Order: sequence, then C-alpha cells, then structure tokens
Amino acid sequence: MTANYYDLLGVKSNATFEEIKRAYHAAALAHHPDKNASLSEADAMSPDIFQQVQKAWGVLKNSDTRSTYDRHLAGQRMVDQVVVSEEIALDEMACQELEGVCEYSYPCRCGDYYQILSEDLEEDFRSMIVACSSCSLNIRVDWDEAVQHKEETL
Ligand SMILES: [Zn+2]
Repeated sequence: MTANYYDLLGVKSNATFEEIKRAYHAAALAHHPDKNASLSEADAMSPDIFQQVQKAWGVLKNSDTRSTYDRHLAGQRMVDQVVVSEEIALDEMACQELEGVCEYSYPCRCGDYYQILSEDLEEDFRSMIVACSSCSLNIRVDWDEAVQHKEETL
C-alpha cells in the first residue's frame, strides 16, 4: 500500500495548514534531489519521494483539493478495514463443544481456520467479522437469534 499524503509528510490527518506547510518544507529539504550526493544508497529513491512530497503539498495546501482527498481517503479506509472474502451463516461453521462453549470453525483458503467462540457472539449484532488465525482474510458470519436459543435447547 502506498503511503497517504499525510503519512508522507509526517503530519496527522487533522493537521493545520501551518503544520502541513512546515512538514512540507522539512520533507522537501530532506528529500531534495540536489542533496542526493550526500545520501546513502538506501535513499536512492529520493527523487521519487521528492516528487510525491511535492504532489502531497499540492493537494493538501488547498482546502478544496484537501477535502476532496480526505473524502477519498475515508472511502479507501472503509474498504481497507474490512475486506470480507466470504459471507457465511453460522450454521455453516463446524461446532466443537468445549466445556459448554461452542468453538466454531470454518476453513480458510490458506489452510488455517476462522474461529469464534459461541460466547463471543454478540446477540445484538447478528453478524460478526471473523479474521483468519493465520492470514489477513476475513469472513462475515451471520446468524439470527434462533441460533443462540438453539444452543440452550440442545
Ligand atoms: Zn487464512
């Protein structure tokens, strides 16, 4: 994932214009191509970073373009946050009972499992994002209130 403009300049997303300006000057100075000669090989990418810093400043210095960019970021964050690879019903998960608690599991593509305990299910939500124990995949598990009651009557 590429760094967003705020990260690039090292400022918070709610930074003021002055803070952004200061950060831009510092970053532009640090990554200026003319300074490359004195930089180590690890910083060989500096011309690129310098260009990105310029681009970041170009967008963030203007309140209109900045708010457009903020909206774009907010949308991206929502997608980043929850990447649901599959939606299943709780019934589809295998239940292994341990001391009165049901451990639900469902196989993940990576070979590991998505796991939740029946006591973690929050009745009010009726749905839950479950992360795989090994990889970055998530599934959404849906259930209805009947599931909770079913356990009691088992
Ligand atoms: Zn996995």
